[in-house]
Amino acid sequence: MGAGHNEEKFKAAILLRSESKIWAEAKSEWELHLVYDDPSERACECGHQPIIQICVIRNKDNSNEAEVGNVCVHRFMKLASQRVLSVLKRIRWDLKKSLNPAALDLFARRGVISTEEKDDYLDYWRKRTNLTDEQKNQKNDINIRVIKYADEEAARLIANFAKNGLKPRL
Ligand SMILES: [Zn+2]
Repeated sequence: MGAGHNEEKFKAAILLRSESKIWAEAKSEWELHLVYDDPSERACECGHQPIIQICVIRNKDNSNEAEVGNVCVHRFMKLASQRVLSVLKRIRWDLKKSLNPAALDLFARRGVISTEEKDDYLDYWRKRTNLTDEQKNQKNDINIRVIKYADEEAARLIANFAKNGLKPRL
């Protein structure tokens, strides 16, 4: 493990955009903003390339953003990026599958679903019992909305990143 993912380089890049200069504190300033796949070849802040699974992270204190690889976000920042990426993949494959708490939390923060909808969904997720038709429809509607948002945001972010110049391969 660790091959190609330079931890010091990654942390230095994130610290530059953080308020605190102490890693343990700086790390907690960041939250997961979005995850998406980008087939163009990019490099992570750690120097690893190419990265396909992109994580947008956002600093809660100063609103700075960074787009980095999933491996580093998961490994060095302990954010639930992998859980969100894999559940989106599962739902794309089968709309009847369920979003997990990590994904529900992220999309509620992004305003894609309301707090009420998140609470209802968490209820369905916990019980795993038979849902009424009305509940099934609500869940289906939320799944469709989340996928649509994730796709549109991904397209926007990829276009934006290309416009600003892709991080050159080293
Ligand atoms: Zn990395």
